[in-house]
Amino acid sequence: MTALDRASIADLSARFSGVLLRPDESGYDDVRRVHNGMIDRRPALIARCLGTADMADAVNFARTHGLELAVRGGGHNVAGRAVCDGGLMLDLSLMKGIHVDPVRRTARAQGGVTWREFNRETQTHGLATTGGVISTTGIAGLTLGGGLGWLMAKYGLAMDNLLSAEIVTASGDIVRASNDENDDLFWALQGGGGNFGAVSWLEYRLHPVGTVTSGLIAHPFAQARDVLGFFREITSSGLPDDLAIFGALLHAPDGAPIAVMIACHCGPIGEAETALQRIKKFGTPIMDTIGPTTYEATNMMLDAGFPRGALNYWKSNFMMELSDQAIHALISQFAKCPSPMSGLLLEHIHGAATRVGVSETSFPHRRDGYNFLVVSEWLNPADNARNIAWARESYDVMRPCFAAGRYVNYLGDDDGEDAVAAAYGPNYQRLRVLKAKYDPTNLFHLNQNIRPA
Ligand SMILES: Cc1cc2nc3c(=O)[nH]c(=O)nc-3n(C[C@H](O)[C@H](O)[C@H](O)COP(=O)(O)OP(=O)(O)OC[C@H]3O[C@@H](n4cnc5c(N)ncnc54)[C@H](O)[C@@H]3O)c2cc1C
Repeated sequence: MTALDRASIADLSARFSGVLLRPDESGYDDVRRVHNGMIDRRPALIARCLGTADMADAVNFARTHGLELAVRGGGHNVAGRAVCDGGLMLDLSLMKGIHVDPVRRTARAQGGVTWREFNRETQTHGLATTGGVISTTGIAGLTLGGGLGWLMAKYGLAMDNLLSAEIVTASGDIVRASNDENDDLFWALQGGGGNFGAVSWLEYRLHPVGTVTSGLIAHPFAQARDVLGFFREITSSGLPDDLAIFGALLHAPDGAPIAVMIACHCGPIGEAETALQRIKKFGTPIMDTIGPTTYEATNMMLDAGFPRGALNYWKSNFMMELSDQAIHALISQFAKCPSPMSGLLLEHIHGAATRVGVSETSFPHRRDGYNFLVVSEWLNPADNARNIAWARESYDVMRPCFAAGRYVNYLGDDDGEDAVAAAYGPNYQRLRVLKAKYDPTNLFHLNQNIRPA
């Protein structure tokens, strides 16, 4: 921060509509914190932007002063790339503008909006688009990396519903990208994460989504083999697009291990009842919360398991099938799980999310299958080593069952360039060429970084 003197901050401050925070100022410590309590970084300056002009000024300021630049949308990324040590944190968390056009069925939202805030506005009009399954996640980071969620089998991934974006590029220019304008940049934004600039606005296509039928059905851990076998059977026998199901090994609120299926059917209630009957009738569940509710509530049903500030270490990989070997490995690993907050998840992907060409967007994973995710989560820093070791071991024992690809939004702080290449597969080289065009000096490198060609 030696290059950064008070005079230049004062110069930026004179134009800035938002708030500039330095380490000795009140509020700094709260704002620099992100969702994952493992991340403890101290930027030299936090620029709390109120709009696109603030963002452009802050990007220019970071570039001209040679500062590292981190962009924070919702701050949920487990790798913690939204905050840096010693550089400038471009904080969008005050940028909450949302405008819904119920006639065109579109919504424009600023880069600091979370899914909870977004759904609240769109659901007022009986509309929604695919978002994440936890409502406190930011729309920007999630969408730019892909966006898996309850509505993906019906309406595609979050980024498949992106119509346009406004972006501040590394040169400080404010550019619009869509299929009709800067279409190469738009292609890159649909999966390429925060590599191409800071996105100020995102415009989405919305769909009529009112009452959905959703919830969680839990069985004792002793039945896990049968439950996962049944989950495999139903997910590989052609689910309707209206129905998304995740399988998981989790803990009940009393800490008991359980085998669960979590489902959301976004079609008419009658059809949902028929589609979900088989799942509800399977075995002898100890809990069944599946029933009609709002999409907004569905998006919040798992929130309590992911408190801000908890310590997180995640690992994930795509899988094409759920073999007996995988089921055995899942069960034996979960039996060793050291934290009641942790779980092993299988996010099933099918339907509209898979009916897009591999290179139509920069997100290439378009086959039916599962995203396997180790969520290692705990509260006491003294337990860091064993919870991280369990996550790594769980990932390693599942390795023989993996497909080639990885999901960029779940990559961790210690996943390197190979993991980024695996996340983009056949689209990686084109992304590197576009990175060279839009960010040749790699100003935006605090992300899952695509190095300029
Ligand atoms: C509890 C939890 C639940 C999750 N659930 C899901 C899920 O259901 N589906 C799913 O697909 N993913 C899920 N994720 C992963 C999530 O998609 C990523 O963590 C995503 O990066 C979060 O976006 P964010 O804006 O909150 O994060 P941030 O940490 O703010 O940012 C993440 C990355 O995106 C960049 N970025 C953020 N905003 C912008 C912007 N406006 N312009 C340019 N770059 C930006 C950042 O620089 C950073 O590199 C979940 C994560 C957590 C912790």
